[in-house]
Amino acid sequence: ARERGEFVRRTPESRRLHEAAAPHLLGGVPMTWMAKSAGPYPLYLDSARGARVTDADGNRYVDFCLGDTGAMAGHSPAATVEAVERRYGRLGGATAMMPTEDAGAVAGILAERFGVAEWSFSLSATDANRWVLRLARAVTGRPRVLVNSFSYHGSVDESFIVTGADGPRARPGNVGPAYDVTETSRVVEFNDLAGLERELAAGDVAAVLMEPALTNMGIVLPEPGYLAGVRELTRAAGTLLINDETHTFSAGPGGCTAAWGLEPDVVTLGKAIAGGIPIGAYGLSAELADRIWSDPEADLVDTGGVGGTLAGNALSLAAARATLERVLTPEAFAGMTALSGEYTAGVQGLIDRFALPWTVTQLGARSEYRFASPAPRNGTESYLATDAELEDYLHLFLLNRGIFLTPFHNMALMCPETSSADVELHLEVLGAALADLAG
Ligand code: PLP
Repeated sequence: ARERGEFVRRTPESRRLHEAAAPHLLGGVPMTWMAKSAGPYPLYLDSARGARVTDADGNRYVDFCLGDTGAMAGHSPAATVEAVERRYGRLGGATAMMPTEDAGAVAGILAERFGVAEWSFSLSATDANRWVLRLARAVTGRPRVLVNSFSYHGSVDESFIVTGADGPRARPGNVGPAYDVTETSRVVEFNDLAGLERELAAGDVAAVLMEPALTNMGIVLPEPGYLAGVRELTRAAGTLLINDETHTFSAGPGGCTAAWGLEPDVVTLGKAIAGGIPIGAYGLSAELADRIWSDPEADLVDTGGVGGTLAGNALSLAAARATLERVLTPEAFAGMTALSGEYTAGVQGLIDRFALPWTVTQLGARSEYRFASPAPRNGTESYLATDAELEDYLHLFLLNRGIFLTPFHNMALMCPETSSADVELHLEVLGAALADLAG
């Protein structure tokens, strides 16, 4: 109650804007997740630059949410702003249904970084995942998709399935599914190779869609040999392997795929790669692309089943080129990863000092703590370790002292402009919150 009172005292303008807008916004917000913020109403944004955001009342925050990864390049990095102004303002033609030189440049960078040859673009990671699942079913002639329990790949119908004591079941909260997901999808726990082998045995799985490390129930790292085992089993079963690197891109310039030497058939991306301008991308191995182009049965590309009017637009690609060439460079990743290491070590120090039953896990520029020890090994264990009340308290305490976090993650993400002082402030305030709790 004390922290809620403090929030309300600091944010009268956010409150006024929220109350004025709410009658015509579904759920009072432009996108439902924004209703999950820690305060009684969302903070309204005034401006953002680099690692900082300023709310409508002029309160400044160090931003460790970074648009839930969408702003991992920092807010409005100068190189991306320049490219956007040039394309949209000076040259014009955000949506002309004509390719620009930037398209080939971005595809070339992604091909080199991720080691998969041929790329196409969408407007979000959700659409990239939807479209590659269609391609996977088309090219394999198989009906089913397999995902890890409590993974998240966007609002993709086939992926809302979890393991349960009595077998697979639809994940709660999937509104209005088109069909019974247990008919279209299979599910196994992350880090469970025996389970994967069992589920692939029927030979009806077109593709495994997975993150190389889970990031949506805290970070769950693969155990030694797990990802190599997944590759071996999928290959043997004739099942395509899709690595969703939308979040795990934090691991380095070529995501986990490059950092860990993975060999997926498909990589999907979104969020961060265009510096906050909407984009999604999917890359296919040369072998899979050949298979698609030479399929005698169907024209798998010109179907309307993949693609969209605004996908591959010149604005997104101008932004992506500038962001990848000049902002999210290998050097920037090295700096972000080092800072994330400082943060992770600092959180571990707090865990030790307060003897907390927590664990903290780093994946490159991203770090997250869980209310569980030892660290959860899969999505279900991680789900069981959630504590909404504690999370809300911590988030609000930090928010009131200038630290902005993603509402539904205990996650700290670094961008190229996050500083050591920002990390120190975060740790100091988190320490104060814990002292207050212990108090
Ligand atoms: N894939 C992963 C791993 C994600 O975490 C998300 C969103 O959080 C998505 C895909 C979907 O991204 P978007 O909502 O930008 O389409």
